[in-house]
Amino acid sequence: MNELKNESLCALAMSEGRNWMPFTANRLVNGRGDHRVVALAKGPYYTMADGRTVFDSLSGLWCTPLGHGHPRIVEALRQQAETLDFAPGFQMTHAPAVTLAARIARMAPDGLEHVFFANSGSEAVDTALKIAIGFHKLRGDGGRFRLIGRERGYHGVGFGGMSVGGIVSNRKMFATVMMPGVDHLRHPYDHAHVAFSKGQPEWGACLADDLERLVALHDASTIAAVIVEPVQGSTGVLVPPIGYLQKLREICTKHGILLIFDEVITGFGRMGENFASQRFGVTPDMITFAKAVTNGIVPMGGVIVTSEIYKTFMSGPESAIEFAHGYTYSGHPLAAAVAHTVLDIMEEEDTNARVRALEPVLEEEVHSLRGLSSVKDLRNIGFTAAIELSPLPEKSALRSVQLFEYGLQEGVLLRVTGDTISFGPPFISTPDQIREMIQKVRNVLLRCE
Ligand code: PLP
Repeated sequence: MNELKNESLCALAMSEGRNWMPFTANRLVNGRGDHRVVALAKGPYYTMADGRTVFDSLSGLWCTPLGHGHPRIVEALRQQAETLDFAPGFQMTHAPAVTLAARIARMAPDGLEHVFFANSGSEAVDTALKIAIGFHKLRGDGGRFRLIGRERGYHGVGFGGMSVGGIVSNRKMFATVMMPGVDHLRHPYDHAHVAFSKGQPEWGACLADDLERLVALHDASTIAAVIVEPVQGSTGVLVPPIGYLQKLREICTKHGILLIFDEVITGFGRMGENFASQRFGVTPDMITFAKAVTNGIVPMGGVIVTSEIYKTFMSGPESAIEFAHGYTYSGHPLAAAVAHTVLDIMEEEDTNARVRALEPVLEEEVHSLRGLSSVKDLRNIGFTAAIELSPLPEKSALRSVQLFEYGLQEGVLLRVTGDTISFGPPFISTPDQIREMIQKVRNVLLRCE
């Protein structure tokens, strides 16, 4: 199929809505043709089908920190496809998956030692929730079935992740079929106390006490686990106040509740450490990961668990399947091989140190937007930041379309959710590219004033 034919087929299929796009206003995007079609990606840039080059301000969807088209990753993918393209992961395994599990366990905080592979963040979260319930059951504590999420949390779109998630627009269509026994902590963001904080806000550790309220309501003996993102990414970079995660840990430990950190965004360097858990000095009982582990090139997710959890599952008869759970593509050889190369590059180039060096640049640049009339809050931590705009009642959806379009015109791909623009640039960005990105954003905001 020649390129021209491909393009006209693409335009036709778009106009007919053949590709039902995820989390998308399909009719709007299909009506905008080339504006929304990506053709090429290289380093920290995309080239759109209409020829415009735009800076990738969110590393894809937080998943391509090493940029696009990295020759070593492409080569690893090719070699693995030639050697072992697929092997069943049930009752057998292969070297790339086994050695990757050991490697990820080594990178994780002490005590987290075993990895269960999935293919996405959503699958990782549902896996972790099932492990939590199974763990208590195997210990003879099966009354612990409740799962506690958090308002404004995002844990993917499986029934488990959606139920513990706290984003109303994702939940309202499915209100009648949410998992039973789920409750939510209040979110850790209080504009009046923390607006324009740089890094972790000083105020707000006390918000973790909300867990005691839920314990008092449901009784600890019914609660299996609490799941939180250490930094809430999808709802606009909500940064944990100093001491907040420590307090959650203490309360969970006191009541025998498992603590799960959903590190699908924060894992593999976004906070300047392998995991946010290490940045904030708090060790959960499980960590979910996905996205950056393969630089977004082949889907992969997983859960890292403590040896206590693993041993609890391994305590039954040896010939029995201990956890009746898994995916056809758990630990897929292509994903595992790519992940090894991604981690090799991260190690060799010390991307954690790079993120720590870039953090103050992004912080300074983002906070330089303070004073623009539409800006309500600016926040940042690690190599992430968010601009929250003053709400425009009735017109927020329209504004987010406008922001996106202006972004394309200025040369920056913007991730706008509601009134917030989130940033998670590639780790390979230079300080000048970050300055340029924020200059483009300033132009966009000025055009919206
Ligand atoms: N958990 C968190 C914290 C996420 O940010 C996401 C996606 O953004 C998910 C889970 C879901 O991941 P996926 O889209 O790979 O299913």
